[in-house]
Amino acid sequence: MKPTEPQSLTVMPTDHLRSAIRDVVDFPKEGIIFKDITPILADGELFRESITRLCETTGGVKVDKIVGIDARGFIFAAAVADRLGAGLVLVRKKGKLPWKTRQTAYSLEYGESIVEIHEDSVKPGETILLVDDLLATGGTAAAAVKLLDELGANLIGISVLIELSFLQGRSKLLPHTVHSILTY
Ligand code: AMP
Repeated sequence: MKPTEPQSLTVMPTDHLRSAIRDVVDFPKEGIIFKDITPILADGELFRESITRLCETTGGVKVDKIVGIDARGFIFAAAVADRLGAGLVLVRKKGKLPWKTRQTAYSLEYGESIVEIHEDSVKPGETILLVDDLLATGGTAAAAVKLLDELGANLIGISVLIELSFLQGRSKLLPHTVHSILTY
């Protein structure tokens, strides 16, 4: 590569994204170190870069739809969908979606929940990328994957900005590929 050529973002360090994430101790309950991504959202360049990096995780594969997970996942999923010219599908907490839904229950790092998807939002064989802000225990993403599998989606991967790798959430998502931009 000539020195004047722009480097691909993937080979550039992620330190500036990492250092913008704020650790909030004991939120929303004791023992949890909450990874606050709002400083990234509030910085135009960092937000754009986080979206660029998430887009790169497709490896250039054309995706029909981005599926985002309630609620912070929506922020990243919507921007990725717009950038890639893909549709956006929402996996939401129970009771929020107005049309006919499929649902599944799951447990997360701090509590339990049920997520739903509109049953007509993904057609069998559609190419899907699942996007969330953070992968912790993997329960939430696994629930979304279950719904997508039931709808016959062609899931090409799960892309997250942050992975708490010590919780081994990606093991719950096998055989699917997990891409994370920042690992802790
Ligand atoms: P999990 O199902 O355990 O993988 O939890 C993932 C979901 O919970 C993500 O949608 C995150 O938004 C949220 N979450 C879990 N743990 C944290 C954490 N330590 N900091 C910020 N968000 C978290």
